[in-house]
Amino acid sequence: MRINFNVPPYTGHEFDYIKECVEAQKICGDGKYTALDNEWIEKKTGCTKALLTTSCTHATEMAAILAGIKEGDEVIMPSYTFVSTANAFVLRGAKVVFVDIRPDTMNIDENLIEQAITPRTRAIVPVHYAGVGCEMDTIMDIAKRHNLLVIEDAAQGVMATYKGKALGAIGDFGNYSFHETKNYSMGEGGALLLRDETYVDDAIIIREKGTNRTLYKLGKVDKYSWIMPGSSFLPSDMNAAYLYAQLQMADEINSDRLDHYNRYMEALKPLEEKGLIELPYVPKECVHNAHMFYIKCKDFEERQGLIKYLTSNDILPASHYVPLHSSKAGLIYSEFRGEDKYTTKESERLLRLPMYYKLTNDDLDEVVMRIKEYYHFN
Ligand SMILES: *Cc1c(COP(=O)(O)O)cnc(C)c1O
Repeated sequence: MRINFNVPPYTGHEFDYIKECVEAQKICGDGKYTALDNEWIEKKTGCTKALLTTSCTHATEMAAILAGIKEGDEVIMPSYTFVSTANAFVLRGAKVVFVDIRPDTMNIDENLIEQAITPRTRAIVPVHYAGVGCEMDTIMDIAKRHNLLVIEDAAQGVMATYKGKALGAIGDFGNYSFHETKNYSMGEGGALLLRDETYVDDAIIIREKGTNRTLYKLGKVDKYSWIMPGSSFLPSDMNAAYLYAQLQMADEINSDRLDHYNRYMEALKPLEEKGLIELPYVPKECVHNAHMFYIKCKDFEERQGLIKYLTSNDILPASHYVPLHSSKAGLIYSEFRGEDKYTTKESERLLRLPMYYKLTNDDLDEVVMRIKEYYHFN
């Protein structure tokens, strides 16, 4: 494809930092660059503790362990999300309960959460789709009144805010992704954000195979041993080094992406005004990070036609999640509570356009031109 859907971010300093790790013979986890990344996230978001992980998937699994999720528990989330949001809880024996999304943001409909709560409900997992925040005040209020934990899937939400608060640092736990398809990347990686001091010690132990190795390295205990069940959730410092090069330039990457987003918005506005497509919406409480630019076609057939048209013109667009409740595993491990009014319908007409750091205006304009051609718009 001449215009790809995604190109992993690269700033130019990544190799220098990785080389430094290699030459210093410090390539395992929790080295210099992991510490720098953790510190960057803590400063940027105001969370009490950030722990770099091997993926957002693993950060969510850590949150599920820390939350004490067990067999028979129920966890509420949208069905329109990535499998990892659900897997983390299913792996602990919990049942996933889906509620419908809002068609305007594709986020969980905060007004449907309360009626899905039962005595078995333990947590709410809002997913900030496209880096646009969920209605967090409402969600936090529901959680407080029902004594539930909030675990934010902020995989797409780095550098985005809700009412001035960083996504991922509002709930009890927040999870970031640094996969190569995300705004800032280390290939495979993520982070767990802890809002309160309560979980910090256990999180550090769980991430280091259930041992107190971190305390040992700090000289706080004289030998390290098995403290509780855990796993290997810490990434190599070489990956952390790749990420740090981008975090240092986060403002530049963010504004580059926002430029693309705004250019798409402006160029496609006339098609929306004619009622041909729908464009994304950002509530006034939210500052987004241009993780994604999507349009909505009239229906599934029209979207499939557009995918075919763009692909035949050397442009790669992407559809997104197949709702989890309709998937093979979803039929076994989950339940959709309430009516699926928007989840399936909206997911079938959503199309993501090429969006990445350093996408050129020429390429973007070509994508727009082809979309206009498809709709016979001029
Ligand atoms: C990318 C993504 C994940 C998974 O992230 P990994 O780092 O690949 O594990 C989870 N949830 C959402 C919403 C995502 O977009």
